[in-house]
Amino acid sequence: MSTIANDTAEILTAFGVRKESFSSGDFCVRTPITGETIGQVQSTAAAEVNRRIEAAQAAFIEWRNVPAPKRGEFILKFGETLRANKERLGCLVTIEAGKILSEGLGEVQEMIDVCIFAAGLSRQLHGLTIATERPNHRMMETWHPLGVAGIISAFNFPVAVWAWNAALALVCGNAIVWKPSEKTPLTALATQALFEKAAADFGGAPQNLSSVLIGSRGVGEALVDHPLVALVSATGSTGMGRQVGPRLARRFAKSILELGGNNAAIVCPSADLDLTIRAVAFAAMGTAGQRCTTLRRLLVQESIYGGLLARLKQVWASVAVGDPRQPGTLVGPLIDGQAYESMQKALQEARAAGASVFGGERVCIEGRDAAFYVKPALVEMPEQNETVKRETFAPILYVMRYRDLEEAIRIHNDVPQGLASSIFTNDLREAERFLSAEGSDCGIANVNIGPSGAEIGGAFGGEKETGGGRESGSDVWKFYMRRATNTINYGSELPLAQGVQFEIAP
Ligand code: NAD
Repeated sequence: MSTIANDTAEILTAFGVRKESFSSGDFCVRTPITGETIGQVQSTAAAEVNRRIEAAQAAFIEWRNVPAPKRGEFILKFGETLRANKERLGCLVTIEAGKILSEGLGEVQEMIDVCIFAAGLSRQLHGLTIATERPNHRMMETWHPLGVAGIISAFNFPVAVWAWNAALALVCGNAIVWKPSEKTPLTALATQALFEKAAADFGGAPQNLSSVLIGSRGVGEALVDHPLVALVSATGSTGMGRQVGPRLARRFAKSILELGGNNAAIVCPSADLDLTIRAVAFAAMGTAGQRCTTLRRLLVQESIYGGLLARLKQVWASVAVGDPRQPGTLVGPLIDGQAYESMQKALQEARAAGASVFGGERVCIEGRDAAFYVKPALVEMPEQNETVKRETFAPILYVMRYRDLEEAIRIHNDVPQGLASSIFTNDLREAERFLSAEGSDCGIANVNIGPSGAEIGGAFGGEKETGGGRESGSDVWKFYMRRATNTINYGSELPLAQGVQFEIAP
């Protein structure tokens, strides 16, 4: 067994994952670091999918009666378990998804953070008391859990996005069933093992409160179509959302859709360029350009265009591409050969449209022919054409000029996606205009920081083809609950609303 496969097996075994569940099965798991096989997993059969969803429903029936603050205590316990295992789980994220180690660890930190947030939230799942028009009446809202919440996740955040959903869904009293990306099933098995450990230590959490379904699209569809699944939170490409959204709507199930982005930043003449360059570099090249919030379009005011571009080229030329486990590496591999092909296709299209492309070529590392490392690409585009408007999930930064802010905002919003956005400026009027109703049309709009790297405290998600869903902080918990409006009559009369009279004979 190679070192990397060995490390993987060691981490999984330390977490208590049974050897046969990652060393036999019909599904090959590869690490993008070398392209080699690091595990074999078994797809969950259709009958087993049904059994797990039914078991989750039974868990929900018990869990909904556990007081919310007690549920919060359990989530806190799970957060502590994650903290105790942060190094190993973060390392596994790096091995399976290819992100650099500090990002792998950051992803686990995000899981811990959202557990703490959800634990606090467990004492704040409150409704309103509303003034009524009738004497001796009281009107209020109560919030109840939905049932089984399905979670479908993408390869690029193999565990953090699950945690955003899981922590909130559980604290709200739901049970969860997770269909991770077929490219990252091992981190899911590892996380589930840690969840079960926390549940055993805690006591009082029902069996099957959380479970994992292994497989690709077909298994995801089975989860989406199951009548016992009240909500599906699905993270992935817009293509996936186009299939999942209507299927859920057909049976009136709830959905949270977190789909593709095509994020831009506007750089104004007053911007602090040192800060801007650092922010742009992280947002465009972090996670090898494979974040939903990756910066893919940079709109630069024409008077500073030449100077900024020259500085960006220096940074792009010097960035360390290589093994994500090595200190000093900033850009790890692409997830697979398909990602490499789609990057090259986009760059060819850009060249054909008159762009000048800097970087973007494959970086060959000895003994790693099956892995796909690339130099991040800076692409000077003459205009925002269809290639730029499409999300290509790779480190490509299209750079374009603009004359005035109005034009910049028009170009900024002229894409089908609406996830994250930024403006770099020290001019208050420009910043506020960008954040106003006539500014960015995205779910996330920032000033003087890049579009990626959100904190868990805010609501995360985007508009248009990004799907409209929100996950994580703020009042997002409401998506995981149903609202009941209660009117209570504590008098002896029966006044009807709107003064309606309906006198029956005594
Ligand atoms: P993907 O769409 O290929 O797969 C995502 C998940 O959906 C996988 O688990 C997959 O098996 C499942 N799936 C695919 N088709 C399905 C179907 N018809 N029914 C049910 N499940 C189905 O995405 P990916 O390549 O893993 O991830 C990259 C994409 O995800 C990018 O577009 C990125 O922008 C997006 N993403 C969005 C967010 C966000 O919060 N908006 C976060 C992370 C990633």
